[in-house]
Amino acid sequence: MSQTVLAIDDSSDIHRLLDVRLKPEGLVVHHALDAADGMAQAIRNTPDLILLDVDMPIITGFEMCKQLKENAQLAQVPVIFLTGATEVYTKVQGFDLGAVDYVTKPFDPAELRARVRAALRTKRYHDLLAARSNVDGLTALWNRSYFNQRIGEEISAAQRYDRVVSLVMVDIDKFKSLNDNHGHPFGDQVLQRVGELLHTSLRTTDAPCRFGGEEFALILSETDEEGAATTAERIREALAHMVFRPSDRMQLQVTASFGVVTSSILPKSKLDVAHLVMAADDALYEAKRTGRNRVCIAKPNVGSTI
Ligand code: GH3
Ligand code: MG
Ligand code: MG
Repeated sequence: MSQTVLAIDDSSDIHRLLDVRLKPEGLVVHHALDAADGMAQAIRNTPDLILLDVDMPIITGFEMCKQLKENAQLAQVPVIFLTGATEVYTKVQGFDLGAVDYVTKPFDPAELRARVRAALRTKRYHDLLAARSNVDGLTALWNRSYFNQRIGEEISAAQRYDRVVSLVMVDIDKFKSLNDNHGHPFGDQVLQRVGELLHTSLRTTDAPCRFGGEEFALILSETDEEGAATTAERIREALAHMVFRPSDRMQLQVTASFGVVTSSILPKSKLDVAHLVMAADDALYEAKRTGRNRVCIAKPNVGSTI
């Protein structure tokens, strides 16, 4: 299937040029003369690449790029800026806003095509990975199927080599009302930022997973109860200090509750995935029940399920 490019520029000459230059690449090129129309088209048929003019009246290219990156459906679409300006500052600003590249006008046809090809190649790899791999498409954390496989391996290793593994279940507090009050796309943004926080807060040997919905499971390899509790507390506090902006004029905080379990609290006969998840879930439920925004630790023989 051919890939589609959406060109957004207020000059119709530029559109004619892009058409001539890109059609031979076998690309489908859509055109918009301003940011509003560009956004509407992008939402209607998610393109594989957006070529975006920096200098446009009403809504500038930079402003539009910001809007694209805040939109969960479009955040992964690569943006190449078309710019007349060659100052370093403009280029840097574009990259900081999330653009993958820029092309200076007037275009060199070969350079334009090469940059477009490179961006589309990366996009294709990204799509392939998201579709086939164990990565959750929204948060880029490990998905549920990876979780199942990995926790099984960790438990086997714990049994065989007398190692410990800890599991932390994380559930965002009152997430339903965030969605209800500020919209599903904002809820998605929150999930993405929580995903980033989890990813950057753990060691590379750990596995942060999206367990489902607004629930995450952190597999902490060779980590005892104290280590797991400290990690959970650090993440809880970092999240509670993050600022989320559903709109320009509003800001709010998001918290989560944590349930921690370490394999060593389970008797050998009950050291399996189901019992470990159940114990972490019980601890999480306890955190919810006692006020949310807190970390609870599963204790041996506490709760009916262990
Ligand atoms: P609690 O503090 O008890 O955890 O309350 P809660 O509102 O977070 O819990 P509940 O399980 O009632 O609500 C979870 C909500 O998460 C409901 C569902 O619509 C929403 N949700 C699940 N997956 C997604 C998603 O991918 N994106 C968005 N935006 N919302 C999601
Ligand atoms: Mg919740
Ligand atoms: Mg939940």
